[in-house]
Amino acid sequence: MDVSLVNSENRVGSEYPIDKPRQADLDRCVHCGLCLNACPTYRELGVEMDSPRGRIYQMVQVAEGQPIGDTYREHIDLCLACRGCESACPSGVQFGRLVEAARADIEANTRRPWLNRKTRDFVFRKLLPSPMLLTAAGAMLYVYQVSGLQKVLRAAGVLKLLGSFGDREALTPTAQIPFFFRQIGQTFPAEGVRRYRVAMIAGCIANISFARLNEATVRVLQKNGCEVVIPAGQTCCGALHVHAGIRDQARKLARQNIDAVLGHAATSRVPSFDAIVTNAAGCGSTLKEYDELFEHEPECLEKARSFKSLMKDVTEFLASIELNREMTPVNATVTYQDSCHLAHGQKIRNAPRQLLRAIPGLKFREMPLSDICCGSAGIYSVLHTDLSMKILEKKMENVTLARTDIVATANPGCMLQLEAGVRKWGHGERVAHVVELLDEAYRGF
Ligand code: SF4
Ligand code: SF4
Repeated sequence: MDVSLVNSENRVGSEYPIDKPRQADLDRCVHCGLCLNACPTYRELGVEMDSPRGRIYQMVQVAEGQPIGDTYREHIDLCLACRGCESACPSGVQFGRLVEAARADIEANTRRPWLNRKTRDFVFRKLLPSPMLLTAAGAMLYVYQVSGLQKVLRAAGVLKLLGSFGDREALTPTAQIPFFFRQIGQTFPAEGVRRYRVAMIAGCIANISFARLNEATVRVLQKNGCEVVIPAGQTCCGALHVHAGIRDQARKLARQNIDAVLGHAATSRVPSFDAIVTNAAGCGSTLKEYDELFEHEPECLEKARSFKSLMKDVTEFLASIELNREMTPVNATVTYQDSCHLAHGQKIRNAPRQLLRAIPGLKFREMPLSDICCGSAGIYSVLHTDLSMKILEKKMENVTLARTDIVATANPGCMLQLEAGVRKWGHGERVAHVVELLDEAYRGF
Protein backbone atom coordinates (compact mmCIF):
# COMPACT_ATOMS: atom_id res chain seq x y z
CA MET A 1 0.00 0.00 0.00
CA ASP A 2 1.33 3.39 -0.89
CA VAL A 3 1.37 6.02 1.80
CA SER A 4 -0.85 8.82 0.65
CA LEU A 5 0.25 12.40 0.89
CA VAL A 6 -1.53 13.98 3.79
CA ASN A 7 -1.01 17.08 5.81
CA SER A 8 -0.21 15.88 9.32
CA GLU A 9 -0.37 18.05 12.44
CA ASN A 10 3.35 18.61 11.97
CA ARG A 11 2.90 20.13 8.57
CA VAL A 12 -0.09 22.33 9.19
CA GLY A 13 1.11 25.79 10.08
CA SER A 14 4.73 24.62 10.18
CA GLU A 15 7.17 27.48 10.57
CA TYR A 16 9.77 25.30 8.89
CA PRO A 17 8.53 24.30 5.43
CA ILE A 18 12.15 23.62 4.48
CA ASP A 19 12.49 20.49 6.66
CA LYS A 20 13.37 18.32 3.68
CA PRO A 21 16.63 17.51 1.86
CA ARG A 22 18.12 20.60 0.27
CA GLN A 23 18.88 20.60 -3.39
CA ALA A 24 22.42 21.92 -2.80
CA ASP A 25 23.15 19.01 -0.45
CA LEU A 26 21.70 16.46 -2.89
CA ASP A 27 23.68 17.94 -5.78
CA ARG A 28 26.98 17.23 -4.06
CA CYS A 29 26.65 13.50 -4.71
CA VAL A 30 28.43 12.48 -7.92
CA HIS A 31 27.26 8.85 -7.61
CA CYS A 32 30.82 7.48 -7.46
CA GLY A 33 29.91 4.70 -5.01
CA LEU A 34 33.01 5.15 -2.84
CA CYS A 35 30.75 5.21 0.22
CA LEU A 36 29.16 1.81 -0.38
CA ASN A 37 31.70 -0.26 1.49
CA ALA A 38 31.48 2.03 4.53
CA CYS A 39 27.73 1.48 4.83
CA PRO A 40 26.68 -1.25 7.28
CA THR A 41 23.23 -1.73 5.73
CA TYR A 42 24.70 -2.12 2.23
CA ARG A 43 27.40 -4.47 3.52
CA GLU A 44 24.71 -6.61 5.13
CA LEU A 45 21.93 -6.47 2.54
CA GLY A 46 23.86 -5.84 -0.69
CA VAL A 47 20.95 -3.75 -1.99
CA GLU A 48 21.73 -0.50 -3.83
CA MET A 49 18.61 1.19 -2.43
CA ASP A 50 19.96 0.49 1.08
CA SER A 51 23.26 2.18 0.30
CA PRO A 52 24.04 5.90 0.74
CA ARG A 53 24.11 6.42 -3.03
CA GLY A 54 20.81 4.59 -3.47
CA ARG A 55 19.17 6.54 -0.68
CA ILE A 56 20.33 9.83 -2.18
CA TYR A 57 18.97 8.72 -5.57
CA GLN A 58 15.57 8.12 -3.95
CA MET A 59 15.70 11.50 -2.18
CA VAL A 60 16.36 13.16 -5.55
CA GLN A 61 13.33 11.41 -7.03
CA VAL A 62 11.13 12.70 -4.18
CA ALA A 63 12.62 16.18 -4.59
CA GLU A 64 11.62 16.00 -8.26
CA GLY A 65 8.01 15.35 -7.32
CA GLN A 66 7.67 11.58 -6.92
CA PRO A 67 5.21 10.87 -4.08
CA ILE A 68 6.59 9.51 -0.81
CA GLY A 69 5.68 5.84 -0.74
CA ASP A 70 6.18 2.91 1.62
CA THR A 71 9.26 1.73 -0.25
CA TYR A 72 11.00 5.08 0.10
CA ARG A 73 10.11 5.27 3.78
CA GLU A 74 11.39 1.74 4.42
CA HIS A 75 14.79 2.40 2.80
CA ILE A 76 15.17 5.69 4.66
CA ASP A 77 14.01 4.09 7.94
CA LEU A 78 16.52 1.29 7.52
CA CYS A 79 19.44 3.74 7.47
CA LEU A 80 21.33 3.74 10.78
CA ALA A 81 22.14 7.46 10.39
CA CYS A 82 25.62 6.35 11.44
CA ARG A 83 27.26 8.77 8.96
CA GLY A 84 29.97 6.25 8.05
CA CYS A 85 29.31 7.29 4.45
CA GLU A 86 30.15 10.90 5.30
CA SER A 87 33.67 9.92 6.33
CA ALA A 88 34.11 7.88 3.13
CA CYS A 89 32.69 10.44 0.71
CA PRO A 90 35.28 12.44 -1.27
CA SER A 91 32.64 14.98 -2.36
CA GLY A 92 31.74 16.13 1.13
CA VAL A 93 28.15 14.90 1.07
CA GLN A 94 26.63 15.57 4.50
CA PHE A 95 24.55 12.46 4.59
CA GLY A 96 23.50 12.79 8.25
CA ARG A 97 21.83 16.08 7.49
CA LEU A 98 20.20 14.63 4.37
CA VAL A 99 18.72 11.60 6.09
CA GLU A 100 17.47 13.68 9.03
CA ALA A 101 15.76 16.07 6.61
CA ALA A 102 14.32 13.19 4.57
CA ARG A 103 12.81 11.74 7.74
CA ALA A 104 11.36 15.12 8.68
CA ASP A 105 9.80 15.28 5.21
CA ILE A 106 8.33 11.80 5.63
CA GLU A 107 7.06 12.68 9.11
CA ALA A 108 5.34 15.80 7.83
CA ASN A 109 3.82 14.27 4.71
CA THR A 110 2.74 10.77 5.59
CA ARG A 111 0.53 9.21 8.20
CA ARG A 112 1.83 6.14 10.00
CA PRO A 113 -0.55 3.43 11.29
CA TRP A 114 -2.53 4.49 14.41
CA LEU A 115 -0.63 2.42 17.00
CA ASN A 116 2.73 3.40 15.55
CA ARG A 117 1.74 7.07 15.63
CA LYS A 118 0.48 6.96 19.21
CA THR A 119 3.55 5.08 20.44
CA ARG A 120 5.89 7.54 18.73
CA ASP A 121 3.92 10.47 20.15
CA PHE A 122 4.09 9.06 23.67
CA VAL A 123 7.79 8.17 23.56
CA PHE A 124 9.08 11.29 21.79
CA ARG A 125 6.71 13.97 23.05
CA LYS A 126 5.79 12.75 26.54
CA LEU A 127 8.24 10.19 27.94
CA LEU A 128 11.70 11.41 26.88
CA PRO A 129 11.21 15.08 27.87
CA SER A 130 9.64 14.23 31.24
CA PRO A 131 11.86 13.44 34.26
CA MET A 132 8.71 12.36 36.11
CA LEU A 133 7.62 9.78 33.51
CA LEU A 134 11.20 8.60 33.03
CA THR A 135 11.55 8.12 36.78
CA ALA A 136 8.31 6.12 36.87
CA ALA A 137 9.45 3.96 33.94
CA GLY A 138 12.87 3.53 35.56
CA ALA A 139 11.26 2.45 38.84
CA MET A 140 9.19 -0.22 37.03
CA LEU A 141 12.29 -1.43 35.22
CA TYR A 142 14.15 -1.57 38.52
CA VAL A 143 11.43 -3.74 40.07
CA TYR A 144 11.48 -6.10 37.04
CA GLN A 145 15.22 -6.43 37.36
CA VAL A 146 15.68 -6.74 41.14
CA SER A 147 12.64 -8.98 41.66
CA GLY A 148 14.60 -11.66 39.84
CA LEU A 149 11.99 -11.89 37.07
CA GLN A 150 14.46 -10.82 34.40
CA LYS A 151 17.04 -13.37 35.59
CA VAL A 152 14.50 -16.17 35.67
CA LEU A 153 13.21 -15.38 32.17
CA ARG A 154 16.73 -15.11 30.77
CA ALA A 155 17.96 -18.29 32.50
CA ALA A 156 14.90 -20.29 31.45
CA GLY A 157 15.56 -19.38 27.84
CA VAL A 158 11.98 -18.15 27.51
CA LEU A 159 13.12 -14.92 25.88
CA LYS A 160 15.14 -16.81 23.25
CA LEU A 161 11.95 -18.56 22.17
CA LEU A 162 10.42 -15.16 21.47
CA GLY A 163 12.85 -14.42 18.64
CA SER A 164 13.51 -10.74 18.04
CA PHE A 165 11.49 -9.79 21.16
CA GLY A 166 14.05 -11.76 23.16
CA ASP A 167 16.86 -9.89 21.40
CA ARG A 168 15.11 -6.63 22.25
CA GLU A 169 14.85 -7.60 25.91
CA ALA A 170 18.59 -8.29 25.91
CA LEU A 171 19.09 -4.62 25.01
CA THR A 172 17.09 -3.39 28.01
CA PRO A 173 19.29 -1.10 30.07
CA THR A 174 19.75 -1.70 33.78
CA ALA A 175 17.96 0.75 36.07
CA GLN A 176 20.58 2.21 38.41
CA ILE A 177 19.23 3.42 41.75
CA PRO A 178 19.67 6.22 42.79
CA PHE A 179 18.87 7.94 39.51
CA PHE A 180 21.04 10.87 38.44
CA PHE A 181 18.03 13.22 38.23
CA ARG A 182 18.68 14.21 41.87
CA GLN A 183 22.04 15.73 40.85
CA ILE A 184 20.51 18.08 38.29
CA GLY A 185 20.80 21.63 39.55
CA GLN A 186 23.87 20.87 41.67
CA THR A 187 27.43 22.20 41.42
CA PHE A 188 30.42 20.01 42.21
CA PRO A 189 33.66 21.76 43.22
CA ALA A 190 36.98 21.15 41.51
CA GLU A 191 39.52 19.02 43.34
CA GLY A 192 42.47 21.24 44.18
CA VAL A 193 42.85 24.49 42.29
CA ARG A 194 39.93 25.28 39.99
CA ARG A 195 41.21 25.43 36.42
CA TYR A 196 37.92 25.22 34.53
CA ARG A 197 34.21 25.61 34.97
CA VAL A 198 32.11 23.24 32.90
CA ALA A 199 28.41 22.57 32.44
CA MET A 200 27.36 18.96 32.04
CA ILE A 201 24.41 17.70 30.02
CA ALA A 202 23.10 14.64 31.87
CA GLY A 203 20.87 13.18 29.12
CA CYS A 204 17.41 11.65 29.54
CA ILE A 205 17.48 7.84 29.82
CA ALA A 206 21.10 8.15 31.02
CA ASN A 207 19.80 9.59 34.30
CA ILE A 208 18.26 6.18 34.94
CA SER A 209 20.46 3.68 33.17
CA PHE A 210 23.83 5.38 33.22
CA ALA A 211 23.57 7.19 36.55
CA ARG A 212 26.92 5.70 37.67
CA LEU A 213 28.59 6.74 34.40
CA ASN A 214 27.32 10.30 34.92
CA GLU A 215 28.73 10.26 38.45
CA ALA A 216 32.07 8.92 37.17
CA THR A 217 32.13 11.71 34.59
CA VAL A 218 31.67 14.34 37.31
CA ARG A 219 34.46 12.77 39.41
CA VAL A 220 36.92 12.62 36.47
CA LEU A 221 36.24 16.25 35.63
CA GLN A 222 36.68 17.25 39.30
CA LYS A 223 40.01 15.36 39.38
CA ASN A 224 41.06 17.49 36.45
CA GLY A 225 40.42 20.79 38.16
CA CYS A 226 36.90 21.37 36.88
CA GLU A 227 34.03 22.85 38.79
CA VAL A 228 31.11 20.89 37.36
CA VAL A 229 27.68 22.50 37.09
CA ILE A 230 24.67 20.34 36.16
CA PRO A 231 22.35 23.16 35.08
CA ALA A 232 18.79 22.97 36.38
CA GLY A 233 16.04 22.99 33.78
CA GLN A 234 17.97 20.89 31.24
CA THR A 235 16.15 18.12 29.40
CA CYS A 236 16.59 15.40 26.76
CA CYS A 237 18.93 16.72 24.03
CA GLY A 238 16.53 15.84 21.21
CA ALA A 239 18.96 13.63 19.27
CA LEU A 240 16.46 10.78 19.01
CA HIS A 241 13.84 13.27 17.77
CA VAL A 242 16.17 14.68 15.11
CA HIS A 243 17.02 11.16 13.92
CA ALA A 244 13.33 10.27 13.77
CA GLY A 245 12.41 13.42 11.83
CA ILE A 246 10.45 14.95 14.72
CA ARG A 247 12.11 18.34 14.43
CA ASP A 248 9.42 20.51 16.02
CA GLN A 249 9.85 18.67 19.33
CA ALA A 250 13.65 18.66 18.90
CA ARG A 251 13.50 22.46 18.61
CA LYS A 252 11.50 22.74 21.83
CA LEU A 253 14.05 20.62 23.69
CA ALA A 254 16.97 22.52 22.15
CA ARG A 255 15.50 25.86 23.25
CA GLN A 256 15.05 24.52 26.78
CA ASN A 257 18.65 23.24 26.99
CA ILE A 258 20.13 26.40 25.50
CA ASP A 259 18.21 28.54 27.99
CA ALA A 260 19.09 26.24 30.91
CA VAL A 261 22.81 26.39 30.16
CA LEU A 262 23.29 29.89 28.76
CA GLY A 263 20.72 31.32 31.18
CA HIS A 264 22.62 29.77 34.08
CA ALA A 265 25.89 31.18 32.78
CA ALA A 266 24.35 34.64 32.41
CA THR A 267 22.90 34.76 35.92
CA SER A 268 25.88 33.19 37.65
CA ARG A 269 28.53 35.24 39.49
CA VAL A 270 31.13 33.83 37.06
CA PRO A 271 30.61 35.07 33.50
CA SER A 272 30.50 31.81 31.54
CA PHE A 273 31.52 28.20 31.18
CA ASP A 274 34.79 27.06 29.63
CA ALA A 275 32.91 24.16 28.07
CA ILE A 276 29.62 22.29 27.99
CA VAL A 277 30.31 18.54 28.11
CA THR A 278 28.46 15.33 27.48
CA ASN A 279 29.59 11.72 27.85
CA ALA A 280 27.19 10.56 25.12
CA ALA A 281 28.58 10.86 21.60
CA GLY A 282 25.12 10.50 20.05
CA CYS A 283 23.78 13.42 22.09
CA GLY A 284 26.93 15.46 21.52
CA SER A 285 26.56 15.29 17.78
CA THR A 286 23.08 16.83 17.92
CA LEU A 287 24.01 19.32 20.66
CA LYS A 288 26.82 20.54 18.38
CA GLU A 289 24.35 20.91 15.54
CA TYR A 290 21.61 22.84 17.36
CA ASP A 291 22.24 25.72 14.99
CA GLU A 292 20.92 23.58 12.09
CA LEU A 293 17.54 23.50 13.82
CA PHE A 294 17.24 27.28 13.86
CA GLU A 295 18.48 28.36 10.47
CA HIS A 296 15.31 30.44 10.01
CA GLU A 297 14.99 31.78 13.54
CA PRO A 298 17.75 34.41 13.91
CA GLU A 299 17.40 35.00 17.65
CA CYS A 300 17.61 31.30 18.51
CA LEU A 301 20.29 30.77 15.88
CA GLU A 302 22.63 33.17 17.60
CA LYS A 303 22.13 31.48 20.97
CA ALA A 304 22.50 28.03 19.38
CA ARG A 305 25.83 29.12 17.88
CA SER A 306 27.08 30.34 21.28
CA PHE A 307 26.00 27.01 22.77
CA LYS A 308 27.68 25.06 19.98
CA SER A 309 30.96 26.97 20.37
CA LEU A 310 31.27 25.62 23.93
CA MET A 311 29.92 22.11 23.33
CA LYS A 312 32.48 19.29 23.68
CA ASP A 313 32.46 15.55 24.05
CA VAL A 314 33.97 14.77 27.45
CA THR A 315 36.86 12.83 25.82
CA GLU A 316 37.51 15.77 23.48
CA PHE A 317 37.61 18.15 26.44
CA LEU A 318 39.87 15.96 28.60
CA ALA A 319 42.29 15.33 25.72
CA SER A 320 42.52 19.08 25.12
CA ILE A 321 43.67 19.98 28.65
CA GLU A 322 46.70 18.98 30.67
CA LEU A 323 45.47 15.65 32.01
CA ASN A 324 45.93 14.78 35.67
CA ARG A 325 48.33 11.82 35.52
CA GLU A 326 48.01 10.76 39.14
CA MET A 327 46.50 7.40 38.33
CA THR A 328 46.96 3.88 39.61
CA PRO A 329 47.50 1.11 37.03
CA VAL A 330 44.56 -0.67 35.45
CA ASN A 331 46.17 -3.96 34.48
CA ALA A 332 44.14 -5.13 31.51
CA THR A 333 43.98 -5.07 27.73
CA VAL A 334 41.52 -2.82 25.95
CA THR A 335 40.23 -2.16 22.45
CA TYR A 336 38.11 0.78 21.33
CA GLN A 337 34.88 0.77 19.35
CA ASP A 338 34.43 4.16 17.70
CA SER A 339 31.01 5.61 18.42
CA CYS A 340 29.67 6.65 15.01
CA HIS A 341 28.54 10.06 16.18
CA LEU A 342 31.95 10.73 17.66
CA ALA A 343 34.05 9.42 14.74
CA HIS A 344 31.84 10.33 11.78
CA GLY A 345 29.56 13.00 13.26
CA GLN A 346 32.08 14.95 15.33
CA LYS A 347 35.27 13.73 13.58
CA ILE A 348 36.85 12.74 16.90
CA ARG A 349 38.90 9.56 16.77
CA ASN A 350 42.12 10.33 18.56
CA ALA A 351 40.90 11.80 21.87
CA PRO A 352 39.41 8.59 23.38
CA ARG A 353 42.43 6.54 22.25
CA GLN A 354 44.78 9.14 23.70
CA LEU A 355 42.99 8.93 27.07
CA LEU A 356 43.03 5.12 27.10
CA ARG A 357 46.75 5.15 26.33
CA ALA A 358 47.31 7.58 29.22
CA ILE A 359 46.05 5.04 31.77
CA PRO A 360 49.03 3.19 33.25
CA GLY A 361 48.95 -0.59 32.94
CA LEU A 362 46.19 -0.55 30.31
CA LYS A 363 47.39 -2.11 27.04
CA PHE A 364 45.60 -0.79 23.97
CA ARG A 365 44.96 -2.89 20.86
CA GLU A 366 43.01 -1.76 17.79
CA MET A 367 40.26 -4.01 16.48
CA PRO A 368 39.60 -4.27 12.74
CA LEU A 369 36.87 -1.99 11.34
CA SER A 370 36.42 -0.19 14.67
CA ASP A 371 34.60 2.69 12.98
CA ILE A 372 31.83 0.59 11.43
CA CYS A 373 28.58 0.96 13.36
CA CYS A 374 27.75 -1.67 16.01
CA GLY A 375 24.06 -1.55 15.05
CA SER A 376 22.87 0.40 18.08
CA ALA A 377 22.03 3.75 16.44
CA GLY A 378 19.68 5.24 19.02
CA ILE A 379 16.47 3.22 18.98
CA TYR A 380 17.36 1.45 15.71
CA SER A 381 18.18 -1.76 17.58
CA VAL A 382 14.64 -1.76 18.97
CA LEU A 383 12.92 -0.87 15.69
CA HIS A 384 15.02 -3.04 13.36
CA THR A 385 16.25 -5.70 15.75
CA ASP A 386 17.03 -8.42 13.19
CA LEU A 387 19.27 -6.25 11.02
CA SER A 388 20.80 -4.60 14.07
CA MET A 389 21.74 -8.04 15.45
CA LYS A 390 23.32 -9.11 12.15
CA ILE A 391 25.44 -5.96 12.19
CA LEU A 392 26.32 -6.60 15.83
CA GLU A 393 27.36 -10.18 15.10
CA LYS A 394 29.91 -8.91 12.56
CA LYS A 395 31.12 -6.33 15.10
CA MET A 396 31.64 -9.05 17.68
CA GLU A 397 33.79 -11.04 15.23
CA ASN A 398 36.13 -8.04 15.15
CA VAL A 399 35.96 -7.60 18.93
CA THR A 400 37.03 -11.25 19.25
CA LEU A 401 39.96 -10.69 16.88
CA ALA A 402 41.29 -7.95 19.19
CA ARG A 403 41.49 -10.47 22.09
CA THR A 404 41.16 -7.94 24.90
CA ASP A 405 39.64 -7.96 28.38
CA ILE A 406 37.76 -4.71 27.83
CA VAL A 407 35.89 -3.09 24.94
CA ALA A 408 35.79 0.64 25.50
CA THR A 409 33.51 3.08 23.76
CA ALA A 410 32.22 6.64 24.20
CA ASN A 411 28.47 6.37 23.99
CA PRO A 412 25.94 4.76 26.35
CA GLY A 413 23.85 3.37 23.47
CA CYS A 414 26.90 1.58 22.03
CA MET A 415 27.63 0.19 25.49
CA LEU A 416 24.18 -1.44 25.69
CA GLN A 417 24.55 -2.92 22.22
CA LEU A 418 28.06 -4.23 22.87
CA GLU A 419 26.98 -5.72 26.20
CA ALA A 420 24.22 -7.61 24.38
CA GLY A 421 26.84 -8.68 21.83
CA VAL A 422 29.20 -9.96 24.52
CA ARG A 423 26.36 -11.94 26.14
CA LYS A 424 25.53 -13.57 22.82
CA TRP A 425 28.83 -13.92 20.99
CA GLY A 426 31.53 -12.65 23.30
CA HIS A 427 34.24 -14.20 25.44
CA GLY A 428 33.57 -12.50 28.74
CA GLU A 429 34.81 -9.07 27.67
CA ARG A 430 33.83 -6.16 29.83
CA VAL A 431 32.22 -3.16 28.13
CA ALA A 432 33.17 0.22 29.58
CA HIS A 433 33.03 3.90 28.76
CA VAL A 434 36.45 5.56 28.40
CA VAL A 435 35.55 7.84 31.32
CA GLU A 436 34.74 4.88 33.59
CA LEU A 437 38.25 3.50 33.04
CA LEU A 438 39.78 6.88 33.84
CA ASP A 439 37.63 7.07 36.97
CA GLU A 440 38.88 3.65 38.08
CA ALA A 441 42.48 4.72 37.50
CA TYR A 442 41.94 7.83 39.63
CA ARG A 443 40.17 5.96 42.40
CA GLY A 444 42.65 3.07 42.46
CA PHE A 445 40.43 0.08 41.70
S1 SF4 B 1 27.64 10.01 -1.24
FE1 SF4 B 1 29.73 10.61 -1.82
S2 SF4 B 1 30.84 8.67 -1.97
FE2 SF4 B 1 28.66 8.17 -2.00
S3 SF4 B 1 28.12 8.09 -4.15
FE3 SF4 B 1 27.67 10.18 -3.48
S4 SF4 B 1 29.56 11.33 -3.91
FE4 SF4 B 1 30.10 9.17 -4.03
S1 SF4 C 1 24.30 6.79 7.49
FE1 SF4 C 1 25.19 4.74 7.80
S2 SF4 C 1 23.56 3.29 7.29
FE2 SF4 C 1 22.91 5.32 6.50
S3 SF4 C 1 23.57 5.32 4.37
FE3 SF4 C 1 25.26 6.25 5.57
S4 SF4 C 1 26.65 4.56 6.11
FE4 SF4 C 1 24.69 3.65 5.41
